Amino acid sequence: MAILPILTAPDPRLKKKSKPVEAVDAELRQLMDDMLASMYAAPGIGLAAPQVGVLKRVIVLDIDREDVKTGPLVMANPEIVEASDEDATYEEGCLSVPEHYSEVVRPAKVRVRYLDRDGKQQEMTCEGLLATCVQHEIDHLDGILFIDHISALKRNMILRKLLKARKEKQREAAEGKADTKAKDHAPAL
Ligand SMILES: [Zn+2]
Repeated sequence: MAILPILTAPDPRLKKKSKPVEAVDAELRQLMDDMLASMYAAPGIGLAAPQVGVLKRVIVLDIDREDVKTGPLVMANPEIVEASDEDATYEEGCLSVPEHYSEVVRPAKVRVRYLDRDGKQQEMTCEGLLATCVQHEIDHLDGILFIDHISALKRNMILRKLLKARKEKQREAAEGKADTKAKDHAPAL
């Protein structure tokens, strides 16, 4: 399994709409496995294919909380087929928006239809953090980041900081300094 580099905003590939998967074949299963490995390595609890530069409708998740334990989940062509009127607010983070968090309001409960690792159609009802995570990852497939759900003022501030951090990193790399900065972690999606 390969650990794939994760793109960070404002990378234009994160704003593209991903294409549906035609078949769940060996090549796609390899991508799913690589995505899971990359998600665990990051570490994160969810990852969408465009975050590793692949514009295909594939997401992976693994939530291990007291209230929700999913184990590794892979979904091709996931779609929300039902959403509750009731909303829930979670503080979200994202592997593509490192070190920034913001509260996002989304439907509290959704039903998602998808193809599993064997290409079989499945449906799952998601609540709590899982509901947030599935919606956050499906958003990635449509070129939407969690910062697109918050005020433009806050979004632009985060994007400016990300650009600045990237420039600093490039400068440090050019000067041969190792990346020793410790990662503080709330779960990233
Ligand atoms: Zn994300």
